[in-house]
Amino acid sequence: MRQLTCVEPGRIEWLDVPPPRLAADVEALVRPLAVARCDIDLFLTSGAFPLREPFALGHECVAEIVALGESVRGLEIGQRVVVAFQVSCGRCHSCGVGHTANCDELPPLSDYGMQPLSGTEYGGMLSDLVRVPFAEAMLQPIAPGLEPQALASVADNAVDGYRAVAPHLAELPGSDVLVVAHGIRSIPLYAAQAAIALGAGRVDLASDDDEVLALAERLGARPLRTDFGKRAGRYPIVVDSGVTLPGLHYSIRSTVPEGICQSTSFHAGGDVPLPLGKMYTLGIRFVIGRANSAALLPEVLPLIADGRLRPEAVTTRVVDWEEAPAAYLEPTIKLVVRRD
Ligand SMILES: [Zn+2]
Ligand SMILES: [Zn+2]
Repeated sequence: MRQLTCVEPGRIEWLDVPPPRLAADVEALVRPLAVARCDIDLFLTSGAFPLREPFALGHECVAEIVALGESVRGLEIGQRVVVAFQVSCGRCHSCGVGHTANCDELPPLSDYGMQPLSGTEYGGMLSDLVRVPFAEAMLQPIAPGLEPQALASVADNAVDGYRAVAPHLAELPGSDVLVVAHGIRSIPLYAAQAAIALGAGRVDLASDDDEVLALAERLGARPLRTDFGKRAGRYPIVVDSGVTLPGLHYSIRSTVPEGICQSTSFHAGGDVPLPLGKMYTLGIRFVIGRANSAALLPEVLPLIADGRLRPEAVTTRVVDWEEAPAAYLEPTIKLVVRRD
């Protein structure tokens, strides 16, 4: 079968690889129909993380089930599903309490399409077939009538944006929200969209990225152009989404005393300095961690089915499957690759 593969930094090719097979009765095989490029993928393909060997690309998708192990219940061949991008068993203590990003049964970062980070190749969604080790835990059927390409980003970046604001708005209903985008492009837009949908007061998006600011405005957020010098004001909820130190410190400075600064950022380059003395004095709660994909999907998919969240509004380019190798390196905000 064909698998989109990053063979070296900046070079992406279709490779012929052996198709996966069912290896246990709890597994599934799926055929991806629409795949969104995650914000981290451009970092992976550019060689920002050292590549030890070629790796399979893609971890956000809607797919069709083509085979199921004998013990799988509640799923059917032919069903369209969102595939959680993190592998999780659904049976351990961590999965039971919703911490599916850190399943007890698997090493950290057991994700599709992220071999440079985990060292383990789980396959990528830009493939003809993908093996799902725990079908019941990792597959969420989508409502009939919803387009796969509209839901392609739900498995990761869209739920990431949602969880960056949902628990905090539940605690502080109607609060103003500031989203800070500094080098990560789609997650902050999903966060702004979710904040508006969940009844935040004012939703502002601060960035030095004019394309992100323009799209934020179309989504209904107020764009704030900044160089991350002076703070934007003081907000009870701030979403820090990016990879720069000035952006991170701007996010913390823009959080009101006793407020929440939620980070969606992956800092791979070692330790990062934080103004802990100031944060302690002001009681700023800094929250960081990965989205729990499998646990969040049942919460987010109904909001999309109801039209309250529209992940497709963040998509800036849709290409056919055959165009993936070239399109995957383009800098557009949110790329979706689709096939019939
Ligand atoms: Zn991702
Ligand atoms: Zn587990």
